Amino acid sequence: MSLEQYDLHTHSRYSDGTTSVSEIARLVKAQGLKGFALTDHDTMRGWEEGRSAASELQLDFVPGVELTTRLGSLGVHLLGYGFDSADPRLTLRLRQIREARSHRAEEMVQRLAQDFPIDWEEIVANSSESIGRPHIADALVRQGIVRDRGAAFATLLSHTSKYYVPNDMFDTVEAVEIVTGAGGVTVVAHPAAIRNDEVLDRREIALLVDAGLRGIELRHPENNPQHIPALEQIAKDMDLLITGSSDFHGAGKANRIGDETTDAATVYKLREAMRFPN
Ligand code: AMP
Ligand code: ZN
Ligand code: FE
Ligand code: FE
Repeated sequence: MSLEQYDLHTHSRYSDGTTSVSEIARLVKAQGLKGFALTDHDTMRGWEEGRSAASELQLDFVPGVELTTRLGSLGVHLLGYGFDSADPRLTLRLRQIREARSHRAEEMVQRLAQDFPIDWEEIVANSSESIGRPHIADALVRQGIVRDRGAAFATLLSHTSKYYVPNDMFDTVEAVEIVTGAGGVTVVAHPAAIRNDEVLDRREIALLVDAGLRGIELRHPENNPQHIPALEQIAKDMDLLITGSSDFHGAGKANRIGDETTDAATVYKLREAMRFPN
């Protein structure tokens, strides 16, 4: 791999990854990358550690976040980078979302607890401020009910399971506007992930571009290659930057740091639009 590559989508223990931010930085260094973005779900808690771990290893750190949003009936994950982490509108919305996440997870656990020996307090004690299905999966693993996170997602935690409770709605257009308003740039995450039932169409992407969208993560281990050519054409027509990332979750997923990457020139262009690029 050429030098000057970045991994722009990683998760640490501050959300549902299984490693520390410093460990992510070490892995980024070991892969010979120039830098990385930390994109924990709905939290910026790891940014400080990311900045210091990166500077120790002479890596370039891009502060980020991943937001779970909805556009009509479509689930859309949105990556936000380089914004003011103290922006009042953004911090208020994220606090609401984390609360909703917690209620939703608790409801799933209540349903599961009717049939399996799992306990909400124990799960809370073993998770972060941004709690999700991966933390419930880990409890199912600890109890020997499933083998690993993947098995839990394929069965008891799947969106077709009777134990499943949907996430609260955060409108994608609103999310793009909020991050843009806080001085950041937004990129649609894994737009063709196998787990997405449907893929964004041209009209929907145009709506997001109107709200400020700057990029689309076309290289991602879980993107279905079948949808990529059409999305690539749309990205070209709308002047969207194309990114690649691993969506690393530590031991929680097979994705490894650097599985997909973004070149420094693209990161530079994204950064030009960020008011808080470091
Ligand atoms: P939630 O936001 O609570 O619905 O959980 C979704 C999170 O679980 C996302 O961060 C995904 O990356 C992660 N995830 C989805 N599918 C799997 C899987 N099969 N194994 C491990 N983690 C997964
Ligand atoms: Zn995750
Ligand atoms: Fe995602
Ligand atoms: Fe992710």
